[in-house]
Amino acid sequence: MFDSISGSIKSAVNKIRHKDDAASLKKATTELRKSLLKSDVHHKTTKELVTAVELETKKNGIGQDSFLKALQNELTNILTTEGNQGFVFSSTPPTTILMTGLQGSGKTTTTGKLANYLKLRKKKVLVAACDLQRLAAVEQLKQIAAQIEVDIYFDDEAKDPVEIALAAKEKAKKDLYDVLLIDTAGRLAIDEELMQQLHDVKEAINPNEIFYVADSLTGHDATKTASTFKEKIGIDGVILSKYDGDTKGGVAISLSHQVGVPLRFIGIGEKMPDLEVFIPDRIVSRLMG
Ligand code: GDP
Repeated sequence: MFDSISGSIKSAVNKIRHKDDAASLKKATTELRKSLLKSDVHHKTTKELVTAVELETKKNGIGQDSFLKALQNELTNILTTEGNQGFVFSSTPPTTILMTGLQGSGKTTTTGKLANYLKLRKKKVLVAACDLQRLAAVEQLKQIAAQIEVDIYFDDEAKDPVEIALAAKEKAKKDLYDVLLIDTAGRLAIDEELMQQLHDVKEAINPNEIFYVADSLTGHDATKTASTFKEKIGIDGVILSKYDGDTKGGVAISLSHQVGVPLRFIGIGEKMPDLEVFIPDRIVSRLMG
């Protein structure tokens, strides 16, 4: 999957020729630094990771195995952020989730995937169409809901996402839904109006969690945007979409390290079942090849 980073890691390891050879460890860490930067890992994350790998390798005795083990440990540490994993249900249903993200990130598709994931686990799910920004978004969610046979709340007359979200929450309570997923508006880039709208929906709904859908293919921008969403409206989890198309793989590492919000799920294709719970060990294995 991540042939380039896996290949560079192997080539970094191969720089270590002999046991306890400090000069070759330097060469290996230089190679590792270059490969991480090339794979979209943030420069601060790269620096910390490489320093930690170097120290741990020295501590355990320089050698190929100890270098690999140190790298595996450090990657796992970074990807294992404190906080929830997968989906967490509130003790007072409906568990209400705001789905946020930039336009095109895969937010509406991911709302459907998550609804499908929950439905397969026998949960009664309602999705709410509050993305009034993108013309086709409501129609798209209607089609997805029909396809996965999940109920949808929409209001073609309403102009205010807060109004729709409130009505959806009322319905979810009244009809005893387990989960309410609210698809919100995105923009091509962050702007104040969008943040204000998300803030208003959040205040009105008081969701259990806010998920941010980050597009893996946007590299460093995914980390920057997620940080801004975190700062402006607060996010509780990241869903990394389009991971199947990502050949570099570094964005998960940067997001975990720089944003400090747990990655909860990854999107691995365009179809409804293409959603996996984010499991750090699994990602580390894919990165290390
Ligand atoms: P929104 O504007 O954020 O609601 O974005 P959409 O949900 O419309 O998704 C934008 C495009 O990304 C669509 O063509 C989706 O099929 C595609 N997409 C979403 N998630 C994934 C994913 O995990 N993998 C792939 N390959 N495509 C995805």
